[in-house]
Amino acid sequence: AAWRSLVLTLFPEMFPGPLGQSLAGKALDKGLWALDVLDIRDFARDKHRSVDDTPFGGGAGMVMRPDVVDAALCAAKDGWTGRVQDGEEGSGRKAPVLYLSPRGRLLTQGLVRDLAAGPGVALLCGRYEGVDERVLEAHDVLEVSLGDYVLSGGETAALVLMDAVVRLLPGVMGNEDSPGEESFGEEGFEGLLEYPLYTRPAEWQGRAVPEVLTSGHHEKIRLWRRAQAEEITKRRRPDLWARYMKDRP
Ligand code: SAM
Repeated sequence: AAWRSLVLTLFPEMFPGPLGQSLAGKALDKGLWALDVLDIRDFARDKHRSVDDTPFGGGAGMVMRPDVVDAALCAAKDGWTGRVQDGEEGSGRKAPVLYLSPRGRLLTQGLVRDLAAGPGVALLCGRYEGVDERVLEAHDVLEVSLGDYVLSGGETAALVLMDAVVRLLPGVMGNEDSPGEESFGEEGFEGLLEYPLYTRPAEWQGRAVPEVLTSGHHEKIRLWRRAQAEEITKRRRPDLWARYMKDRP
């Protein structure tokens, strides 16, 4: 069965947005992944269709109500079981519910790979000051952050997460070799940032491409690229470099 994402949001019109284009968009059309969107406001019970209220304890802003978010999450889970059961899904893994949040576990390529290997994800997008804590506990939600900054809503974060996962799904990238050697890639360059890239023309505005790259000597090219990747990682991301050195056999 195709990898499936289910987005819960107050702004359903933001999807698929940029993921309807290019690689992800073509893959969506081909059924290599699926995207369903639930409008959280459809689960509001009162006549004003309110989804938020003021925070207990005071303070600025509004908080998304637990009863409304719970109803949306229950509907999302029902949708999941239905689909997973009638597909030939064999992984036996349940799709996790993720809440995009600045307090969450950082989204890394490792987590992206893990999610791509599973059946899919349900993505809860916050707005206002965020979501009532109790509903996150009740649904065993995993909080995932894009980085140490604050976005106005979880939707752009959900789009980023899906973009990163979808490009790893089988058949999505034209060149099956591409994911191997890029930043954070596997095969020999694991944990390193990418080496510099060049294409034609070989000389441009008086700048020549490094000679080794036009030598046709594959082993020398590999060694040069590794040295460059190590140098760039050491200089730009001492945190990644320290981890790389520690993990090396
Ligand atoms: N009051 C929250 C705080 O101080 O941590 C920020 C709320 S933010 C204005 C609204 C929503 O945007 C959040 O509920 C979350 O879904 C999303 N969001 C903001 N920053 C994010 C980040 N770095 N990663 C993932 N989601 C984020």
